[in-house]
Parts: sequence; C-alpha cells; structure tokens
Amino acid sequence: MLVVCAHAKTSDLARYEFEQAHMGTLARIVLYASSREQAERAARAAFDRVTRLDAIMSDYAETSELNRLSQVSGRWVRVSEDLFRVLVISSSIARHTNGAFDITAGRMVRLWRRARRTGEMPSREAIEEARSVTGHKKVRLDSRTRSVKLLCEGMLLDLGGIAKGYAADEALKVIRREGIRSAMVVLGGDIALSDPPPDERGWTITVLSIEPTKDTKEIEVHLLSNCGVSTSGDLEQWVEIGGVRYSHIVDPKTGVGVTGRMSATVIAGNATISDALATAACVLEPERALSVIDKKGAACLILRRSEKGIEWYESKRWRRWNRS
Ligand code: ADP
Ligand code: MG
Repeated sequence: MLVVCAHAKTSDLARYEFEQAHMGTLARIVLYASSREQAERAARAAFDRVTRLDAIMSDYAETSELNRLSQVSGRWVRVSEDLFRVLVISSSIARHTNGAFDITAGRMVRLWRRARRTGEMPSREAIEEARSVTGHKKVRLDSRTRSVKLLCEGMLLDLGGIAKGYAADEALKVIRREGIRSAMVVLGGDIALSDPPPDERGWTITVLSIEPTKDTKEIEVHLLSNCGVSTSGDLEQWVEIGGVRYSHIVDPKTGVGVTGRMSATVIAGNATISDALATAACVLEPERALSVIDKKGAACLILRRSEKGIEWYESKRWRRWNRS
C-alpha cells in the first residue's frame, strides 16, 4: 500500500488534482500547471489515453484487442503499436525473470479468479491443462510487420501485471506534451512520476506497513522523480482454501496461486517496468527477486510475513535511489 503526498512552495504554478475510475481501479493525477484550463486539458487528455489503452488491453472486455488476439493461434496477426510495445517489453521481462513474469498465464489467472469466487481449489486436471497452454516462449513477435503469432491453441494472454504501469507512463507522456513538467499519475498500485513539484527535490512516496488496516506504520519515505513505482502483493486479492492463502498472482511454473503473505515495491526507470517487476517479485524467492531486479537497474523492497514476524528484503539500490 502506498500513500503519496506533495506540497508546493513558492511558484507561479499551482497544484491540481484529478480522480476517475479506470482499469478496475482509481486513477489519480496530480500536476502543477500555470492555469486551471491547462491543468484540465492535460488531465482530460491523459484520462482519454488511459481509456483507449484499457480498450486495447483489458482482459474483461471480450472485444479488447488483447482478447481478440488470444482467439487466434498458428498464424500472424498484426496488432496496434501500443499492444506490440507491451508484448515486446513483457517478453523481455519474462526472459529476465526466467518466466516468473509471464503474460501467457491467462488460463491460470482465470482458474484462480474463479477459485476466489467459489472458495474451491481448482482441480489438478484444470491446473495441468492451464499449464500446457502457458509459456512465454510460445509467442512469436515480428517487429518488421508488428505482428504476433501464438504457437499454442487455447493460450490466453493477460496483461494485468503490466497494463496499468504502461497506462500510467503513457498518461504522463500526454501530460508532458501539454507543457506540464511536474506530474504524477497513480493507477491502483502503479505510479508514474515526472519532474519534482516546484521547489521540491522529489515527490514524497511513503511505503506503509504490510497490513495498513491493522497497524498502519510508516516504514519508508522516498523523494522520487522521473521514475515508476509499483507495489504488488496479496494484501487485497487472495483466496483462502484449507487454511492456505492463495494470491491472484500465479506461479507460471506450477500453475498455482502464490502463497504466503507478502508485498513487493519496485522503483524503476518507468512504471511499465516497475509494474512487471513487482509482479515477478511476488513469484520468485526473495533473494532471487532482488538479484534479478538489481540486474535490470531497478530497486526493490520485499516484505514477507512469517511466524517470526515480518521479514524484510531490500535490493542494493533501494536506499541509494533517492540520490540517483
Ligand atoms: P494488481 O495491481 O492488479 O494487483 P499486479 O501488477 O500485482 O496487479 O499483477 C497482478 C495481475 O497480473 C493478476 O491479476 C493477473 O492478471 C496477472 N498475473 C498473475 N500472475 C502473473 C504472472 N506470473 N506473470 C504475469 N502476470 C501475472
Ligand atoms: Mg504488476
């Protein structure tokens, strides 16, 4: 859980804040503009961009470009620039995380989503079937023709682990094009930041303790700018079956929802990368997650609840990021 606050001091620019529901969550924009008109124009354009991206990448809307693509296997399909870009980044992160982040895990995600509704464990057969149509190496991308080929029939793509981060980055670009340098876009657990607020060194990002409703504890404060910050974890979405808590994030290797209560916060060059890496960090063993994220030039904090209390893992860059 992240809470973000910002304060402006002396400047001709004023702070504006906008909120709308998008992508199944709350979208929030904070920006510094020279007039209300400029602020509103930028926010409107940014929300419009998010709406268009949701129509492309939603796994709920049957007619989304993503779901239409999932229906075709064995032949090349030309896709939009946005979808292609996200598929290329997803494929690269799948390779870097050794398949812990894998957008082809859609069938598994559906199984565990149903388990959350019914409270029943998916059958072994269903899990095996979902596993047989999952695998990032079963997708081919051709940048020359901007085309995609799914090698496996029945495969279902799911961008739930990266689409919000990408949408936050794109919304921020739209705001910058309107002449605004200092802005923050928040989409659920994903944050995209441009320049710091006027006269400030950065945006204040506060990381709160693992279960904010029970014992809210401020554990980390960062001053950040020109980067992405994402938090993933099983704090909000999970199902308990036989006393075990399964997250809405699945381990593509086993087809099973990730167990154990934890959250991962990642700071990266942009929110697309931080979003995907935070999802991967929930699948990988903590030490492995830190090393993978370190190699990507990003920073990570993982909190895990065990019988002994809260285990705390942070990557090398986590503390240094403020000064970079
Ligand atoms: P949220 O903010 O919705 O919790 P996350 O970035 O934590 O999003 O990603 C979780 C979502 O990613 C799931 O709801 C599902 O759609 C998708 N997903 C689940 N497991 C994986 C995985 N191993 N790799 C990629 N995407 C996943
Ligand atoms: Mg994510």
